[in-house]
Amino acid sequence: MSNNIPLAWAQEWLATPKQQYINGEWVDGASAESWAVKNPANGETLCSFPIADADQVEQTAAIANQRHQAGSWSKVSRTERANLLREIARLIRENVEKLALLETLPNGKLFSESMADDIPTCADIFDYYAGWTDKYYGETSPVEDGFLNYTLQEPVGVCGLIAPWNFPLYQASLKIAPALAMGNTVIIKPSEYTPLTTIFLMELIDRELDIPAGVLNMLLTDGKNANQLTLSHNVHKVSFTGSTGVGRKIVQNSGASNLKAATLELGGKSPCIFFEDTPDLDGAIDRAFTVMFSHKGEKCSEPTRFLIHDSIYDYVLDKLITKAEAIKCGDPLAEGVDQGPQCNEVQFNKIMEYIEIGKTEANLVAGGYADTEGDNANGFFIRPTIFSDVDPNARIAQEEIFGPVLSCIRFNTTEEAVAIANSTEYGLAAGIYTADVSRAHRVAEQLDAGMLFINRYGCYGLAAPFGGFKQSGWGKEMAIHSLASYTKNKGVWVYYGDA
Ligand code: NAD
Repeated sequence: MSNNIPLAWAQEWLATPKQQYINGEWVDGASAESWAVKNPANGETLCSFPIADADQVEQTAAIANQRHQAGSWSKVSRTERANLLREIARLIRENVEKLALLETLPNGKLFSESMADDIPTCADIFDYYAGWTDKYYGETSPVEDGFLNYTLQEPVGVCGLIAPWNFPLYQASLKIAPALAMGNTVIIKPSEYTPLTTIFLMELIDRELDIPAGVLNMLLTDGKNANQLTLSHNVHKVSFTGSTGVGRKIVQNSGASNLKAATLELGGKSPCIFFEDTPDLDGAIDRAFTVMFSHKGEKCSEPTRFLIHDSIYDYVLDKLITKAEAIKCGDPLAEGVDQGPQCNEVQFNKIMEYIEIGKTEANLVAGGYADTEGDNANGFFIRPTIFSDVDPNARIAQEEIFGPVLSCIRFNTTEEAVAIANSTEYGLAAGIYTADVSRAHRVAEQLDAGMLFINRYGCYGLAAPFGGFKQSGWGKEMAIHSLASYTKNKGVWVYYGDA
């Protein structure tokens, strides 16, 4: 285990009370129910706390709305907003080891991944949106003589930000930073499974920065109580990342209440197509395998369906099997480990059920069982699992599993590959590997997915939009797209006459 892991600090921090952050104060969750945050590597409880109940959720929304109506944040200068976001970025960078540990402990992702990627990117997100506070504004429109029409980009109001457990602080940052940049008041609700980094960041902000009370609030609760955020008339916008089922519920709740706007980043079943002329085939297999199985397959945009041309199918499959068998599952804090445990027991059981379904639908060629060797005995470890010759209509090829389970599908023609790729209810991402530039562009046009990766699966950048089509969600996050979703466009007409 590396020396820079602040375990002793974490033990002390975990023993301190975990409270809600409402109106600039730390208060106990009002519910009689408590939630225990667990370490999926060994099943131990990391900390527990009373959760917020629906009434407390509503009270928080009402406070955030009062602050919004009073202009507590929207009237703060854009320079000051930018300064605050940059200060948050600084706090994240100064505490990267602590945050990386608090990200890894309840999630099971590798500490090295949290350190190298997840947490530093959060700081970059705050810096990126700090730069936008005074660069996103309205326009004048070319209207008839005698009239002036201009538009204003105003804050939406109270933003309910609901994050999942797979990239906890990253998802929270992607929502908080643009929402604050555009002058909104915010309620962040981290996943109950992985709230630690969000709690710690709120503590740092509360202790070290000067942000008006009630502008940035945090609720620690489960989905049942968080439901009130999406029903509340005091909330004007919901940004949600999570499962398609909950996304659907949020849309229903919006319709049943105040028609609040919703950005939804939901599930996926993304295809990666390997044509017979895949350039640098070994490199392509390496890359797609890594994106598929890193973070133990708990990524919405990972390529869970490899569509492989018949002429290279056996070669690709052999390579994949060799790679899967070489993966070492174990303690995500330890060096030399490739894959940590699944995030929680519910997820572990769901994946294991899909593996059993897969065994009845296709050929299991790698993994297919829980890894309970030695120190892994009490954790939620699953071997990287590969099914071959999967029928495109099989359940394991159609439904989101959200774990280290890959379906390999054989195809012969481009038309067949496109039809299979488009055959699920999802449309988040898709990959195309081919040396034929015309085919790459033609297929990119034909695939019904929000993000296309040609000859390198899984590219991301803060200045590029992220989001899916079909039942993978509504709207885009990142880049300028987030700013549009956290503002409302007001048109103003001025009549100044003919003379
Ligand atoms: P989830 O839908 O179970 O929960 C997500 C969040 O919603 C949690 O904070 C949860 O407490 C909350 N929630 C649950 N029910 C709610 C309700 N009725 N009202 C308000 N909030 C509620 O998802 P998860 O299991 O945390 O995450 C995994 C899912 O997230 C997968 O389906 C994955 O594809 C998706 N995901 C999508 C993206 C993307 O960008 N498209 C990114 C990451 C994860």
